[in-house]
Amino acid sequence: MSSILNADLHCHSVVSDGTLTPEELAARAAANGVELWALTDHDEIGGQHRAAAAARQNGIKYLTGTEISVTFANETVHIVGLGFDPDDAAMSEGLYDTRGGRGKRAQEMSEQLAKVGIQGAYEGALRFVGNPELISRTHFARFLVEGGYCRDTPEVFRKYLTEGKPGYVPHRWATLKDAVTWITAANGLAVIAHPGRYKFTANEEYALFLEFKAHGGKAIEVVTGSHSPAEYVEYADKAVEFGFAASRGSDFHSPDESHCDLGKLPWLPGNLTPVWELLEHRIQ
Ligand code: AMP
Ligand code: MN
Ligand code: MN
Ligand code: MN
Repeated sequence: MSSILNADLHCHSVVSDGTLTPEELAARAAANGVELWALTDHDEIGGQHRAAAAARQNGIKYLTGTEISVTFANETVHIVGLGFDPDDAAMSEGLYDTRGGRGKRAQEMSEQLAKVGIQGAYEGALRFVGNPELISRTHFARFLVEGGYCRDTPEVFRKYLTEGKPGYVPHRWATLKDAVTWITAANGLAVIAHPGRYKFTANEEYALFLEFKAHGGKAIEVVTGSHSPAEYVEYADKAVEFGFAASRGSDFHSPDESHCDLGKLPWLPGNLTPVWELLEHRIQ
């Protein structure tokens, strides 16, 4: 049995839509008491070697990580990969392809925003981007807050960039099967990120869990910055019901935006199998 309690296996750096570097995140994780950390940039593993080295320097344990965008039942679902080989060629190519449509999508988002009187959103969002291959809605949100169109990012996602609102451009991401296969073929383990956040019916969620499991998926996030305390309980029960291990992660993006800091979450409920117990051989 693992003695680790403070694992934080979900956060973002400037390599995707976070505002801190991998080195700054490692130092912050260590200062907050994190014992085991993973950097999980969206559709990117370009920060993995830096993050592992920074974890070592700060005296904390590390698992490789990523968060892959997937389209399932016409919704975007996020699949976290943990403990994979960061130099795996098939996974790198798959993620490269997944990032591919983001530039064109961003231009279309900008055109839509221009129609409601918000000019220059593409160029404005680009000023917040650390990785030119990874322009995301978060970068547009920062532009809209900076420009005074909204008070904060939650308000942005209520008024813009989401289905039915200006600036929303539907996008087809990776398939569930591809994402789980890339992770597991690279000796990693696949986790459904923040399952409480999707707008699924009970039947759709059931289909997601069963299909994920059939492709080799092993865990779901239970304690995450994206869940309410009631959802910790709901998804703890579902982890037991479906035979999934459980993960814990803040989904930290920025000191100015994230309500949940690295390592500052409740522990996983004691009856669950922590996902890191299945990954002991992959911990660095
Ligand atoms: P994208 O991958 O470009 O579709 O951007 C998705 C990112 O937008 C997520 O990873 C979050 O960082 C951010 N996001 C999405 N919905 C919200 C929300 N309701 N509040 C705050 N951030 C959000
Ligand atoms: Mn994000
Ligand atoms: Mn996510
Ligand atoms: Mn995330």
